[in-house]
Amino acid sequence: MTLLVSACLLGVCCRYDGESKPCEAVLALRQKHTLIPVCPEQLGGLPTPRVPAERVGDRVITRDGRDVTEAYLGGSEQVVRIARLLGADGAILKQRSPACGVGLIYDGSFTGRLKQGDGVLTERLRSEGLAVISLDEEGPACGL
Ligand code: SF4
Repeated sequence: MTLLVSACLLGVCCRYDGESKPCEAVLALRQKHTLIPVCPEQLGGLPTPRVPAERVGDRVITRDGRDVTEAYLGGSEQVVRIARLLGADGAILKQRSPACGVGLIYDGSFTGRLKQGDGVLTERLRSEGLAVISLDEEGPACGL
C-alpha cells in the first residue's frame, strides 16, 4: 500500500520545536509498504521551529494568540494533492497534533489537557474518503 505518514514519525525534524518523534512501529512498515512523509504545518508555509498551536473551536491559534487556521487548511490541501497524485490508500498520523491528531487533540488551553477531536488534516483526508489511523511514539505499538 501507499501510505501518507506524519513526517515527524519517520524522523523528520519538522515539529514546532525543531525535533522529530520517530516511531519504530511506523518505520517498520517500510518493509511492506510505500511510506510518504508529509507535514501539513510545513506545507502550509509555517516555519520550523514555530510557536505551538492548538485547535480552538473551528480555528487554530498559536500560544501567543495568532490565528494560523489558513496555514493549516492550506497545508492540508497540499497533502490532499500529494495523496491524489500518488494514489494513497490511507494515512498514519501523529496523535494529539492540531493538524495530524486522530480522535484526541490538545484542548486549546495550552495546559496539556486533551479532548476528543481530530486535527485539521485528519478531517480533510477523511472528507476525501481516505482511512486515517494514529500511531505515535507514546502508543503501545511503539513499545514505550
Ligand atoms: Fe508531525 Fe503533523 Fe506536527 Fe508536522 S504537523 S510536526 S507531521 S504532527
